[in-house]
Amino acid sequence: MTRRFEGERLLVATHNKGKLVEIADLLTPYSVNVVGAAEMGLPEPDETGTTFVENARIKAHAAAKATGLPALSDDSGIEIDALDGAPGVYTADWAETETGRDFVMAMERAHRELLASGAAQPWTARFCCTLVLAWPDGHDEVFPGVMEGQVVWPMRGDQGHGYDPVFQPHGYDITFGEMDRWEKNRISHRADAFKKFVSGCFG
Ligand code: IMP
Repeated sequence: MTRRFEGERLLVATHNKGKLVEIADLLTPYSVNVVGAAEMGLPEPDETGTTFVENARIKAHAAAKATGLPALSDDSGIEIDALDGAPGVYTADWAETETGRDFVMAMERAHRELLASGAAQPWTARFCCTLVLAWPDGHDEVFPGVMEGQVVWPMRGDQGHGYDPVFQPHGYDITFGEMDRWEKNRISHRADAFKKFVSGCFG
C-alpha cells in the first residue's frame, strides 16, 4: 500500500526554478507548504543513475536525509525516437555550459542530430517524468508520467522552460512553449505523474 503524506511541509528536491514553479502550481489545491531545495541551502547531488527512477531516488533521499522532511523529487527529460531515446536522462546535460544551462544550445543540438540522422518527420518523442517521494526513514514511493508528441523546428513560444519550444504534444498544433501554463499543467508528463502521486499519497 502507498504511504500517505501526512505532514504540512513538503520539500521539493529541485534547484530547477521552472520545475519548482510547475510543482508548486500543481500542489495549489492541497494545503501543503512547499519549500525548494535552494531555499533550504541544499547542495545538488550528482545524478549518477542511468534511469529517471534512479536519479529521482538519489535526489529525493539526499534531500530527505539532509532535512528530516519528506522530499519530492522530479527527474525528467525528453526521449527522441530517431536518436535512440537520446538525450533521455542526459537532457539537462545537453544544456550544460561553463556559465550555466543554455537550452537554446541544447535544442539546436537535438535539431542538428535529427537532421544528421536522416529521419523523416514527424520526429516522434516523449517527455518523461518520474516523481519520487522519500521519507527520512528511507521509505519511498515512485510515480512515472509520460506525454507523447514530436520535436518541431524552429522553436516556438516563450512560455515554460527547458525544451518546451520544440515539443509539440500529441493532439495539439502548438508547442509547450506556446501553451498557457495551466493547460500544460493539465496534460504534461509531470501532470500525469502528479495525478498518480496525489491519488497515492493524498487520496
Ligand atoms: P533533470 O530532471 O534535473 O535531470 O533535468 C531534466 C531536464 O529535462 C530539464 O532540465 C529540462 O531541460 C528537461 N525537461 C523536463 N521537463 C521539462 C518540461 O516540462 N519542459 C521542458 N523541458 C523539460
